Amino acid sequence: MTPLPKGRPTFCSVDLAALRWNFRQVRKKVGRHVKILSVVKANAYGHGACEAAKILTASGSDGFGVATLEEGIELRKGKIKSPVIILAGAYPEQLDQLLLNRLTPVICELAGLRRLEALARRRGISLNFHLKVDTGMGRIGFLASQIDSWLPQLAKLKALKLEGVFSHFSDAEDVGGSYTQRQLEIFCRVVQRLRSAGYPPALIHLANSAAVITFPSAHFNMVRPGLMLYGVYPSPEMVDEVALKPVLSWKTRILQLKRLSKGSSISYGQTFVTRRESLIATLPVGYADGYPRLLSNRGVVLVRGKRAPIVGRVCMDLTMVDVTDIRGVRQGDEVILLGKQGRDTISADEMALWAETISYEILTSISARVPRIYHS
Ligand SMILES: *Cc1c(COP(=O)(O)O)cnc(C)c1O
Repeated sequence: MTPLPKGRPTFCSVDLAALRWNFRQVRKKVGRHVKILSVVKANAYGHGACEAAKILTASGSDGFGVATLEEGIELRKGKIKSPVIILAGAYPEQLDQLLLNRLTPVICELAGLRRLEALARRRGISLNFHLKVDTGMGRIGFLASQIDSWLPQLAKLKALKLEGVFSHFSDAEDVGGSYTQRQLEIFCRVVQRLRSAGYPPALIHLANSAAVITFPSAHFNMVRPGLMLYGVYPSPEMVDEVALKPVLSWKTRILQLKRLSKGSSISYGQTFVTRRESLIATLPVGYADGYPRLLSNRGVVLVRGKRAPIVGRVCMDLTMVDVTDIRGVRQGDEVILLGKQGRDTISADEMALWAETISYEILTSISARVPRIYHS
């Protein structure tokens, strides 16, 4: 267990046993023969990329997906040796770093394919890549509908080797949705075409967490779960399909307690005025920590197992909560921003609802200022 931070008591507690557990649930869903590319982009959704990757490697993860080259390098520095795919695109300027760190680029368009091929040839090296196909996400990737224009270009490759082909769902949370089904069909046709043209990709992958849980026909021979590894459900409808355990809790302690008379205003802009004599606790956390400002006069924290509402605006470094109705509150009491205390829990989904966003954004927004403490 990493020791608690000295001083400012705002930190995230990361439960590595829960991470291991969630990985095992992925394994159960996909079976032994499907590879698992654990997605650890954005600092493993805020959990700490290297720490998460170590645990996942030991649990049997076959590789890692990150968004950027820099994230890939971080994993290499953290002594992660398994394959790492740069999912959100690699740039020709990064070729040296790609090679040096044995990272696998994703190629999304012909110009990129040609440039990387030319560079690799000039160096006299060969490089594996994954081909991204756009089957309806409208983001990066070769358009499936234009396969006749790009497929013949693969014949010209000498230095680049097609290792994998993949696509990404736009709406896999919509269980059984027809759009997801259509994307799958389009993807299958692309894979067929690649095979019959003589480029059978070794790795074929499409499933994010939602599809890992509810869409076995999209598993192929590799899956790319992110969110579910961290114990968060892609959709509330999936809670009966798999038992996940939240990995991250966000905690702090009461910095100051004060009794304010009726009619006192709290925080910037006087958006909250006490309607009674109130006991107000100031917490050492704010939007610079990634605590959403939209939680102003809206969010809730747990103190002594009870819910205390945020009053006034969330500031950059401090936030006030009303603890008038909670008995025995003391300065220094533990406060749960995200996670479980007593019998109550604040989930990333609940916080996301208050902040008009999704769990992904809540987790990835917790800033570098907040220390992550690991325990198993
Ligand atoms: C983020 C991402 C994933 C993981 O998605 P989850 O919904 O978190 O499981 C998979 N594939 C790609 C290309 C991604 O960008």
